Amino acid sequence: MTTTTADEPMFQAWDVHKSFGHVEVLKGIDMSVERGEVVCLLGPSGSGKSTFLRCINHLEKFDRGEMWVGGQRVGYRPHGDKLKELNEREVAQRRSGIGMVFQGFNLFGHRTALENVMEGPVVVRREKRAVAEQRARDLLGRVGLADRVDNYPSQLSGGQQQRVAIARALAMQPDLMLFDEPTSALDPELVGDVLAVMRQLAEDGMTMIVVTHELGFAREVADRVYFMDGGVVVESGPPSEVLERPREARTQAFLSKVL
Ligand code: ADP
Ligand code: MG
Repeated sequence: MTTTTADEPMFQAWDVHKSFGHVEVLKGIDMSVERGEVVCLLGPSGSGKSTFLRCINHLEKFDRGEMWVGGQRVGYRPHGDKLKELNEREVAQRRSGIGMVFQGFNLFGHRTALENVMEGPVVVRREKRAVAEQRARDLLGRVGLADRVDNYPSQLSGGQQQRVAIARALAMQPDLMLFDEPTSALDPELVGDVLAVMRQLAEDGMTMIVVTHELGFAREVADRVYFMDGGVVVESGPPSEVLERPREARTQAFLSKVL
């Protein structure tokens, strides 16, 4: 799908700025995620985490700075020796290489689990139904829902719906998965199953950026943690440093509240 080479980061951001009106919510974000790496993004509500993910996936435009996914510049393509802004079709094509899972499950309510997972490959990628269906069944099996393929979202628990949403994102064979608080809307007893699926995905080598308040997941699964507050990255590093021995007062204050 993308053109990255093995030794080049799957994702890079430099000095990304974004304002809504006069309010600057991203004030120069730098980030780099290697192929196969899992990065957890922590921070208080309103710090800009969702906005940052949405910019990566062309759901928002950013104002300044650069982002690259798999060797392609977010928002632009080469045009001679200049850059040209992506048109709608090009944006859709870029987005199809990135899987995104939100807090709400955003499934099509009138389609079964299987149909939800097949939708992207069939409609966007124009894959043959039989091919898309086989992969959808495999993916639903992988997230522990082999016996739920014919259920509608309303017949599934929140945790099951979120696992369908993960399978649906994976059906597009993304190079990068973005998760925006995927377990925040779930009843506590359903969180573990979703985290287990994400952990397996990480072990299978998926490149992931995960916004989460689940510090246990961050500690055990993340290669690196970024702590954001007020539109800046306050500190970043391995979880053993950022979570166990935070250097910055703001990180310490946040962790003492979440723990
Ligand atoms: P987080 O995900 O860390 O809670 P967000 O990225 O959702 O933070 O929001 C960062 C800031 O941007 C907040 O102050 C929020 O109110 C503001 N914001 C987010 N989206 C919009 C929007 N579409 N219009 C105006 N302000 C927005
Ligand atoms: Mg958010």
